[in-house]
Amino acid sequence: MDTAASGLSHVRADIARACRDAARDPAGVTLVAVSKTFPAEAIEPVIEAGQRVFGENRVQEAKGKWPALTEKYSGIELHLIGPLQSNKAREAVALFDAIHSVDRASLCEALAREVEKLGKSPTLFVQVNTGAEAQKAGVLPQDADAFIKACSATYGLTISGLMCIPPVDEAPAPHFALTAKIAQRNGLKLLSMGMSADFADAIALGATHVRIGSAIFGTRPPFKGAEA
Ligand SMILES: *Cc1c(COP(=O)(O)O)cnc(C)c1O
Repeated sequence: MDTAASGLSHVRADIARACRDAARDPAGVTLVAVSKTFPAEAIEPVIEAGQRVFGENRVQEAKGKWPALTEKYSGIELHLIGPLQSNKAREAVALFDAIHSVDRASLCEALAREVEKLGKSPTLFVQVNTGAEAQKAGVLPQDADAFIKACSATYGLTISGLMCIPPVDEAPAPHFALTAKIAQRNGLKLLSMGMSADFADAIALGATHVRIGSAIFGTRPPFKGAEA
C-alpha cells in the first residue's frame, strides 16, 4: 500500500479509538488531511483511499495544485489553515470551502467584500492565539468575545467555530479546553484543534476538525518562503 494511504488508515483508526475513549460519535470529527508541501502525486493515493477533506496553509500553493485535483475527483473539500493576507481574500474565498485563520478586522473587511461579490461564503473559524505567542497569528483569548461579535455585527460574517495551535513546548490540553470554553460561551459549534501529535487530546476536549499532516504524509521538508 502507498505509505500515505497507509498513514491515513492508521490515523482513521486512531481517531476512531479516541472517539470511543471520549464516548463521542466519530461522525462528529472531521479529518482535515494537511497536504501542504506535498505534490499532487503524493496526494492522489490519499484521495483514492477515500479522503475528501484537505488542508493547505498557503493560497498560492493550493491554487497551483488543487484545481486539477478537484476537477478529477468529486467531493473534494479544501480548508485554508494558514495565515491569510487581506489582499489574497478573493482567491481564498474562491478556492476554499473553509478558512480557519480569521483573526483581524482588516481581514474580516476583505472577506466580507469578497463573500458578497462572489456570492459564496466558506465556513469561517476564528483563530485564537491561546498561548499569546508573539510570532503566532490569532486573536488573544481576552479579545476573542468582542472580536467574534464584531465579525457578525460589523462585517456581517457568519463565524462557525474557533481554531487554535497550542505552543509547541506546552501541554496542549489546557489550550484545547480554553478554546472550547470560548466557543461555548459564544455559541460556536465547530472546534478546529489537534494535529498529528495531539489529536486524541483534542478529540477528548471536543474537537470537530482535526488537522493532521505528518502522521499521514510523513515528515515535511523544512519550510521556506513567505506565508500566504
Ligand atoms: C502543518 C499544520 C498542521 C499539521 O501538522 P502535523 O503536525 O503535520 O499534523 C495543522 N495545523 C496547521 C495550522 C498547520 O500549519
